[in-house]
Amino acid sequence: MRKPIIVGNWKMNKTNTEAIAFVSAIEEVLHDQADFGIGVPFVALKDAQATSKNLIIASQNVHFEDSGAYTGEISVAMLKDINVNYAIVGHSERREMFNETDEAVNKKIKQLTVNGLHAIACCGETLEQFEAGDTEKVVRAQVSGMLADLSADVVSELVIAYEPIWAIGTGKSATMEIAQDTCAIVRDQVKVLYGDDVAAKVRVQYGGSVKPDNIAAYMSQEDIDGALIGGASLEVASFTEIVNAVK
Ligand code: PGA
Repeated sequence: MRKPIIVGNWKMNKTNTEAIAFVSAIEEVLHDQADFGIGVPFVALKDAQATSKNLIIASQNVHFEDSGAYTGEISVAMLKDINVNYAIVGHSERREMFNETDEAVNKKIKQLTVNGLHAIACCGETLEQFEAGDTEKVVRAQVSGMLADLSADVVSELVIAYEPIWAIGTGKSATMEIAQDTCAIVRDQVKVLYGDDVAAKVRVQYGGSVKPDNIAAYMSQEDIDGALIGGASLEVASFTEIVNAVK
């Protein structure tokens, strides 16, 4: 039985002060029927983590090297030191705007998991690829690239978020059918690479315009174990509705 995992992604929103207020408020409404988390900006990670009791505090990125001359980057050791043990990697905005590749995502997953941290690895096709009917091909290739040379144990523990780029921040969420079918493709690709047991364990999220009024329908799909949520994770009220909708 896979435990659902719902993660907000604040992107470049919220100050440290706002993050602390949000985390204390949301702690009050969490329940144990799912794992809940938020990807917070770097500067708010420490205080958000110190404020949280059950909410997973995730970094929105991490570098794959231990340390060195990488201006503007942060390391796994820095996250570990402040007790942050999750990171989102390969978000489409990082792929599109900061040239993040499947190879880099793969290195990041390795760097995180070798050090005992968890990864939420994102994939998803562009509108052009979707319209050309290439979704399956693109997603299978991304999953294979991101998972290259990982052990079965690591992949079992992984969270993979399928986010069609055309549905992110556009209000155009994927139909239940598209979301389910593509999350099933993600799981099937894990099965091709690692077999049935690992595929049965890996948690697959859908992301892209998930809101309080559609999350329950997504979560009722067989291969959708959770959601990665941008806009609707920014307000305590809407995130609370989401938390309540997955009870
Ligand atoms: P959205 O963002 O929910 O605002 O569409 C999702 C994401 O980018 O993870």
